[in-house]
Amino acid sequence: MDTFCYLFSDMNHPSIIIGGGCAGMQLIRQLLKMPHDQTGDILLIEKEKSIPGKSWCFWANKPSEYDFLVSKRWHKIAFHAEHIHLAENIQPYAYHYISSEDFFDFHYELIRKSARVKIINEQFESVQQTNGLFTVKTDRNDYQASRVFNSVTDFTHPPTNTILLWQHFYGWFIQTEKPVFDQEAATLMDFSIEQGPGANFMYVLPFSANTALVEFTAFSSAESYPEEVYTRQLESYIQKHWNTQYVIERTESGKIPMSNFPFSLFNDAGAINIGAAAGAIKPTTGYAFKRIMKDTQGLNHLLFDQKERKAISSDRFKFYDQLLLQIIQNQPERVREIMTKLFSKNDWISVLKFLDEDSSLLEEISIFSSLPKRLFLKQVYQYVRGR
Ligand SMILES: Cc1cc2nc3c(=O)[nH]c(=O)nc-3n(C[C@H](O)[C@H](O)[C@H](O)COP(=O)(O)OP(=O)(O)OC[C@H]3O[C@@H](n4cnc5c(N)ncnc54)[C@H](O)[C@@H]3O)c2cc1C
Repeated sequence: MDTFCYLFSDMNHPSIIIGGGCAGMQLIRQLLKMPHDQTGDILLIEKEKSIPGKSWCFWANKPSEYDFLVSKRWHKIAFHAEHIHLAENIQPYAYHYISSEDFFDFHYELIRKSARVKIINEQFESVQQTNGLFTVKTDRNDYQASRVFNSVTDFTHPPTNTILLWQHFYGWFIQTEKPVFDQEAATLMDFSIEQGPGANFMYVLPFSANTALVEFTAFSSAESYPEEVYTRQLESYIQKHWNTQYVIERTESGKIPMSNFPFSLFNDAGAINIGAAAGAIKPTTGYAFKRIMKDTQGLNHLLFDQKERKAISSDRFKFYDQLLLQIIQNQPERVREIMTKLFSKNDWISVLKFLDEDSSLLEEISIFSSLPKRLFLKQVYQYVRGR
């Protein structure tokens, strides 16, 4: 390995961004809106030359920075369980779909047009700071910078007494022979499927009457199931619900950590954490896109006074997430009942606000009073005992 100190002789007071995923790209876009003399040049360190496609969805009731990339919106969402079939209009909210290919194409074009950003495909290894100057080590070089943003987290060594579960999924983009989908409604959760060691549900995004993403999802302690488990569930679900010939156009799979790690806004060396590293992934839902949007927009304004940056989640919501994580870890068979009560006994706008961490304490009390009380009280007791 050839290690040398690369001092950016051709770059002006560089900022380094580690990881060119959802958060790294959103941050670049924000930084490029600022004058050059405030941000300096930007070096993006990303280990992959090409990043697998993802579907990024979120609900919103206001225009967002990425509206122009939203290729499908649903004003209606659905929830299903064994004997319950619910669908509601969520206006003024809508459920938005962004394809990560469109997202990356847009950002790479932005970077290509700017003389301020340089991308290198290297593997980040460590970062250190001495007297305000950061040294970032990759598998090939050392780089120095006056500011470092880090989106890379190591989930392989969970701190003791933390919970680490996984939301893992495997889905097919299918084209059906017959026009079978109700393209007006996205199904967020359908628990009417075979359960397993975790809590299993289907997620269905109908793009047209003939095309949809049908995705099997699990909340579980295991990082994944064998591929045949996903494909068997998908085949039987498609057969049962639509009973039509179809072709699989594309597969999407992935896993998202569900954890109560003590995420921090800065890493040990003082680099500014962003994205998953800053706790942007909501532990109990896996949604991150909108949280990253909010955080990176804040960062742009607070670049010069990081102390004012707010944690992505408040302690109150971290506590609620903790209780549900304990249930998913210890009694995953109760998740279906909790979700059924959440969606059948509450107004959905309140549920969306609650999941966005945007609800009032009164609204939260009302939501919790609709859920299995003894189960949640038991979690509170376990949580207090474990502290
Ligand atoms: C398949 C899938 C679907 C999802 N769907 C949704 C959704 O619908 N809605 C939603 O809100 N959220 C969704 N999420 C969650 C959300 O997209 C992610 O959590 C989000 O990408 C986190 O952003 P990030 O920048 O922190 O991490 P990432 O986007 O994962 O970016 C991290 C980047 O760092 C790079 N990297 C990692 N290690 C190194 C290293 N050592 N050196 C250099 N580079 C490195 C990676 O290659 C990656 O490009 C989904 C996630 C997945 C996997």
